[in-house]
Amino acid sequence: MEQSPVIKFFSGEEIPVELHKVRIVQKLHLNPIEERLGAIREAGYNSFLLSTRNVFLDMLTDSGTNAMSDNQIASMLRADDAYAGSQSFERLQEAIQDVFGAKYFLPVHQGRAAEHIIFQAFVKPGDIIPMNYHFTTTKAHIEIPGGTILEIYHDDAVQIKSTKPFKGDIDIEKLKNVIAKHGAEHVPLVRMEASTNLLGGQPFSMANMREVRAICDKHNIPLIMDASLIGENAYFIKQREAEFKNTPIKDILLLMCGLCDVVYFSSRKVSSTRGGGIFTNNVKYYDMLKDMVILYEGFLTYGGCSIREIEAMAVGLRETQDETVISQSPSFIKFLVESLDAKGIPVVTPAGALGCHVDATGFLPHVPQSEYPAGALVAAFYLVSGVRGMERGTVSSVRDADGNDVLADLELMRLAMPRRVFTLSQVKYVLDRLDWLYQNRELIGGLKFYYEPKVLRFFMGKMEPTSPWPEKLMAKFRADFGNSL
Ligand SMILES: *Cc1c(COP(=O)(O)O)cnc(C)c1O
Repeated sequence: MEQSPVIKFFSGEEIPVELHKVRIVQKLHLNPIEERLGAIREAGYNSFLLSTRNVFLDMLTDSGTNAMSDNQIASMLRADDAYAGSQSFERLQEAIQDVFGAKYFLPVHQGRAAEHIIFQAFVKPGDIIPMNYHFTTTKAHIEIPGGTILEIYHDDAVQIKSTKPFKGDIDIEKLKNVIAKHGAEHVPLVRMEASTNLLGGQPFSMANMREVRAICDKHNIPLIMDASLIGENAYFIKQREAEFKNTPIKDILLLMCGLCDVVYFSSRKVSSTRGGGIFTNNVKYYDMLKDMVILYEGFLTYGGCSIREIEAMAVGLRETQDETVISQSPSFIKFLVESLDAKGIPVVTPAGALGCHVDATGFLPHVPQSEYPAGALVAAFYLVSGVRGMERGTVSSVRDADGNDVLADLELMRLAMPRRVFTLSQVKYVLDRLDWLYQNRELIGGLKFYYEPKVLRFFMGKMEPTSPWPEKLMAKFRADFGNSL
C-alpha cells in the first residue's frame, strides 16, 4: 500500500521523512549578506532578476524545478526522434489514457501555450469566463481575445487563517447568478484550476466539481480544468474529503478528469519536465484545437517539445499516481506552515500545494499596500537568508485603464517547495531565518518602481527601497549573527 511520507517518531513527533535517495547533487552557494545586498540591489529588488549564482535555496517556483526520477531520466535515452509518428508520442498518449482516461491528446511546449490555443478557440469579445481563481498567464490569454475573467470563489477563501479544507471551491450560488445575469451564450466555458495557485495552492473538492458539472450540463457550457497541480489536488481530496479516504489517487485522478470536457496542464509542474498538453474525450474539441497546435506549436506528435521531454513527460504523468511522489511536497509544506503558525508568523492556512505562503500584510502592517509589502518581504527575506521566494501580490497585478495600481486581494510571499529538491534541515533553516526576520520586521520598509514594463511587470520590473531600510536590516543581522553566513 502506498503511504504518505509522514512518519511517527518514538518522540511523538510526526516528521515528513524523505522516501527517496539523492543520487545527483548540485553545489549551492550561501554568500555573505554583503554580497546578497549587492545582488538584490542590482536585481531591482525583484527576485526574478537574481542569478542562481547568488541564491542559496531557490524557492521561486515549482515550475520546471522538481527533481526528476531515475526512471524519467532513463526514459529520455530511448527517445524515438522522429518528426511525425514517433513511438515516444504513442507512449505519452497511452500514459494520458491510463492516468487521465482521455482518448485525444495534443502536446504543447508549456502550460501557457495550451491557454493560448484553448482561449483563442473558445473566447469571443464580450465573453465572461467564470473560474475559482485566475492565474497570471490565464488572465492574459483570456483578455487577448476580448474575454473577461470572473472569480467566483467563496468570500472566505481569501481569509489568511482558515480551517476550510477546500478554499479552491467555486461558489455555486455565484456561478448560477453569473449565468443568469450574462446568459449562457456569453459564458463559453467554466474554468476550474486544481490546487488554485494564486490562492495559495488551495484545492477544490470533488463534491464541488460535481456540482459545477451539473450546472454546466444544465446550460450546455463546457467545463475546462487547469490541471497543472492535479496530483496535489487529488491528494488533498483523499486527505480531506471523507468519501475518498480509501480511494486510490489513481481513481481520484480519473474521476476528476472524467467530469471535464477539456483539460490542460503545464508539464513543468505536473511531471517535472518541460512541455504541457491538452486532452479531451470529445473529438469535436480535439478537431477545433488541433490545427492551432500545428500552427503555433509543432506537429501533433511533439508540439514544440523535444522527444526526450515527451518520454519524460509520459513517465512523470504515471508517477503522479504514486502517493509517495505527490505527497512529498505537500508534507514538507505542511511541516513549514505549521511550524511558522506555531510561532505566530502569519501564513496561509491550511497548508496547500506548491509552497508556503507567508502573509505580507500581517507580517508588515506598517508598509502600505501601495509600497508593495509582499515585494518588500521577498527582498528582505532574500537579503537575510539567501532564500529566493516570489512576490504574489500587487506587483504581480496590472494597472487599470487609468494607470492606477490595482491592489491585490492578498499580499503573499510564496516559498515554493519543488518536489524532492530540498532536505528537512534546509526547510528548518528557512524557518529559523523567517523567525528572525519576523522579530525584526519593523526594520523593513517599502518599495517603488523605477522601471515598469506594461505586460506582466513582475517578471522584468525594477524597484528601489523607499528608505535605506536594507542597510539597517543588514547591520542588525551582523549584530545578531556575527560572522556567520
Ligand atoms: C504554471 C501554470 C500555468 C502556466 O504554465 P507554464 O508552463 O509556466 O506556461 C498555468 N496555470 C497554472 C495553474 C499554473 O500553475
